[in-house]
Amino acid sequence: MGNMKKFMTLCLVALLALATLAAGCGGGDKKDAKTDPKTEKVLRIGTNADFAPFEFQDVNGKEYQGFDMDLIRAVAKEMGYKAEIQNINFDGLIPALEAGNLDVIISGMTINDERKKKVDFSDPYYKSGLSIIVKKDDKSINKFSDLKGKKVAVQIGTTSAMEVKKIEGAEVKEFNSSADTFLELKAGGVDAVVNDRPVNDYYILKSGVTDVRRLEELLTSEDYGIASSKKKPEMKKQIDAALKKLRDNGEYDKIFKKWFGNA
Ligand code: GLN
Repeated sequence: MGNMKKFMTLCLVALLALATLAAGCGGGDKKDAKTDPKTEKVLRIGTNADFAPFEFQDVNGKEYQGFDMDLIRAVAKEMGYKAEIQNINFDGLIPALEAGNLDVIISGMTINDERKKKVDFSDPYYKSGLSIIVKKDDKSINKFSDLKGKKVAVQIGTTSAMEVKKIEGAEVKEFNSSADTFLELKAGGVDAVVNDRPVNDYYILKSGVTDVRRLEELLTSEDYGIASSKKKPEMKKQIDAALKKLRDNGEYDKIFKKWFGNA
């Protein structure tokens, strides 16, 4: 027994020595590079943090939360960058990227031809579509074509704004954020709100409102993508590679489940 104990202690000492040696071997430099802010590569990320459950700030207004926020942090890490998130109005995101003030945009942003002229998009990372919320007691709106002659709140610069403008006779009122569109419905300033379906659903789930309903009909099928500069095509490639890795290693699924359950 005594010998066994001695042997075990020796093994432990040997292991510890090896571990210390390994840590000393080149590991030191790597560690410094990661913690030294001067040498660390920063990924400047733009988002409009008013789009729960994709991007929003916690009650103290400090921490960025949501599906997109978790995803882009994981993507940045995979790419070897430190994530630095900036909150910008939705319609200011693409101009900021074009001006070189951002490296990427993640903001529940739908991939479409108009935007593709200005930015590169990653492979799609989320499938979405537009839906309508109305007051429960308003039985006159049951589908998109019923919006004719109605006042509709949308977020400025979004696919909702583009699509509702196509509905003849619909009166479109544009707001800076999805939160503002919900407030307008509550205040009675509009008859309906059009937003991305998951954002409408999250509002109904989390806000405690009981006098509104989300209509079944979805107007579009849209894919969200991460935007980067056309001047840096290697950025798109790196983002796609990171997304693929996160899908393959289960990290994407983990983040998805966290925000959407098994939906
Ligand atoms: N998916 C919509 C769009 O790209 C809305 C995005 C948003 O409001 N953040 O226009």
